[in-house]
Amino acid sequence: MVVTSIDFGKSGKQQGFLQVPYSHNLGGWANVFIPITVVGQGHGPTVLILAGNHGDEYQGQIAIMKLARELDPERVKGRIILIPSLNFPAAHAATRLSPLDGMNMNRAFPGQPEGPVTSQIAHFLTTVLFPLADTVIDIHSGGRSMEFVPCSTMHLVADRAQRARMLAAMLAWNADFAFLYADIAGTGLLPVEAENQGKLVVTTEMGGGEAVPAEVHRITQNGLRNVLIHLGAIEGREHTRASLGKPPTILTQALHREDYLLAPESGIFEIGLDLGSKVKRGQTVGFIHHLERPDRAPEPLVAQSAGYLITMRAPCLTQQGDCVAVIAQPVSARALRGN
Ligand SMILES: [Zn+2]
Repeated sequence: MVVTSIDFGKSGKQQGFLQVPYSHNLGGWANVFIPITVVGQGHGPTVLILAGNHGDEYQGQIAIMKLARELDPERVKGRIILIPSLNFPAAHAATRLSPLDGMNMNRAFPGQPEGPVTSQIAHFLTTVLFPLADTVIDIHSGGRSMEFVPCSTMHLVADRAQRARMLAAMLAWNADFAFLYADIAGTGLLPVEAENQGKLVVTTEMGGGEAVPAEVHRITQNGLRNVLIHLGAIEGREHTRASLGKPPTILTQALHREDYLLAPESGIFEIGLDLGSKVKRGQTVGFIHHLERPDRAPEPLVAQSAGYLITMRAPCLTQQGDCVAVIAQPVSARALRGN
C-alpha cells in the first residue's frame, strides 16, 4: 500500500517521500508523507539510516537531515538511504507513539500491508527496504522518558560473524560507552527484524530528554559519519578512540531483568548518582518521594546488580512500574565475540 517516487536503482541524489494511505474525518484519500533521501550510485553496499522511530527523539533526526543535505553522490561508495523521521506523524506531534493509531513503531514489526499507518510503514521496511540494505542504522535517544549516557547499542545476536561485524560498527561510533540491551518490554522491534534478515544493525541511545546539549549532537553526528567511513560507504579517514586521544569505549551490558529498576510506587523520582558513574550492588540509586505524604520517608531504589548507571528516568514525576534506572555491567569485547 506504501508508494514512493524514488527509484532505488538510480544514481545521484533523489529527494522524495514514502506515501502511506491514511483516511481521516476531513480527508478521504489522504496520504501521510514521510521524507526520504537516496544518495549514491545504485550499486555496491547499501546502508539504510533511520531516526524518528520514536517521534520525540531528535538527535538522529537532525543528524540525518544534515547528512542528507551534505552528502555528495560522487563520494558515496554504494548507496545510502536516509529517513530522518520514520514515524513522521509522531515526530510532528513530539510524541513517542503515533498519534494516528497509538502504535509504537518499535513494536510494530514485521508489520501488516493493510494495517494501521505505523504497521504499514513497518511492513514496507520489512519487505522492501531491509532486503535492499546490507546495513541498518537506527538512531534512538531516550526521548522524553529516559536520559541515557550517549552510547551506541546492539543486541547479542546468535550468529558469531554477524555479531563481530555489529560489535566493530558499534565501537566505530566512538562514544564513551557502548551498551548491549535486552528486550524486557515486548517484541516486534525494528532491529530484531533487520537482524533476523542477517543485516549488520547499528543502534544508539544518544542521551535523551528534550534539552539536547551541543556535545550530544556532536557525538551523534560525528559518530554517524565515522560509522559510514568504517563501513566503506563514504570516503574519509576512520577515527578511533585512540586517534582522538580518548580512552577505550566502556563496553557494558544489561541482559537481566534485575538490571532494570522499576518504580515500586508512584511519586517524585530523585536520582542519587551521576549518569555513567559506577554502582555497587545494594547501593541506593535514587528515591521515590511521596507526593501526598511528604512526612513519610522516601522509598529508596536499591541496585540489584553492580555496574554503571547507563540511563535514568527523565521526568521526575513517576508512576508505579516506570523504569527509573538501568545498571549495566562491564563486559569485554572478547567475551562478546565469544572467543
Ligand atoms: Zn527510541
